[in-house]
Amino acid sequence: MIRVNEGYLTLEPTFFFTRIGEAVAAYEKRHPEKRLLHLGVGDVTKPLAPVVIEAMHRAVTEQSEAASFHGYLPETGTAFMKEAVAAYYAKRGVDLSTEEIFISSGAGDDLGAILHLFSSENRVLLPEPAYPAYEDANRMDGRRLVRLAGTPENGFLPLPTADMDAELVYLCSPNNPTGAVYTRAQLQRWVDWANGRQAVILFDAAYEAFVVDADVPRSIFELPGASACAIEISSLSKTAGFTGTRLGYTVVPKNLRVNGTSLNDLWRRDRCTRTNGVSYILQRGGEAALSEEGQRQNRANIAGYLANGRILSDALRTAGLWFTGGKNAPYLWVKCPNGMSGWAFFSELMERAQIVGTPGEGFGSTGAGYLRFSCFGSREDTEEAAYRLKHIL
Ligand code: PLP
Repeated sequence: MIRVNEGYLTLEPTFFFTRIGEAVAAYEKRHPEKRLLHLGVGDVTKPLAPVVIEAMHRAVTEQSEAASFHGYLPETGTAFMKEAVAAYYAKRGVDLSTEEIFISSGAGDDLGAILHLFSSENRVLLPEPAYPAYEDANRMDGRRLVRLAGTPENGFLPLPTADMDAELVYLCSPNNPTGAVYTRAQLQRWVDWANGRQAVILFDAAYEAFVVDADVPRSIFELPGASACAIEISSLSKTAGFTGTRLGYTVVPKNLRVNGTSLNDLWRRDRCTRTNGVSYILQRGGEAALSEEGQRQNRANIAGYLANGRILSDALRTAGLWFTGGKNAPYLWVKCPNGMSGWAFFSELMERAQIVGTPGEGFGSTGAGYLRFSCFGSREDTEEAAYRLKHIL
């Protein structure tokens, strides 16, 4: 008898961000006269850097002529894009070979797909609150989750203890949704824990470009021992505004082995079967984004988003709301007033101030009673939201 994958039946029928989109659309239908300020979904608003646009235009022209046309490309990425990623890491003192870099369509794709490499009997440690795709992707595979609570007491940065038993762990720093960042010393504890028990860290570095403090690592591979126990998954979505353009990279070190099997070999084998790679045009855009000039242009955009974080932080302080994040990260994690749930505060803010946040409940049970604000809005919307937070709440 044919059967569906029953892991899917354990999921909420609608993905969390889709539910928020529906609630916002319903409000807009009821109040077409009101202008909502979107500080909810973590999507960028600034356009691609000029150097990226120019590179992609040139690539389109190349594809229009037989002499420069490209058909299928290497499944794991072009040499030029891998070299651009390797140079980006080298600047931070992380030495990677291009064979360790796999170009992808974004972190979201690989955070789920990387699970192909691991038995569904492996247990996954999930520090919460967490980006909801980690849990969903593991449920789809029927894998057991062991939850680890991020709380105000541990700064939303749970650390390993000797009795923690699991084969995989997701770490995300800078963190979505809390904006918390592991210091070098804290992240080293996770690396030591993983090496001590042959566990593998799936390190989500989607927000690495927002780190400004020197003692906060942007890559797990900045830490000694990480190449024996970690896979890093990242993308240009937040680094260079590629959320709608789609380009990312995953680093699987050569010396990462599970019971003698090379995960780098397995991932190469997986990719060659399941994907035909990423568009030439996008990879030229990605190469330009990681060039010196591209990084200079993107840093200006990121500085603008971090400035939004400071504007919102000031407003929250004035409004008397407890929050964390907004520094080294594009999110603020706000405690809802008067014991309200995240969903109740979400509705109240939308009704009273036309501000859209994201209810913390969507990031796991430890997110209950919190609301996430994103710093990716336009400056105009952020300033208006700050004004309303100060004067309406
Ligand atoms: N990881 C985290 C923590 C995210 O917040 C997001 C998107 O918001 C992603 C991964 C997915 O990023 P991408 O656009 O590269 O698929």
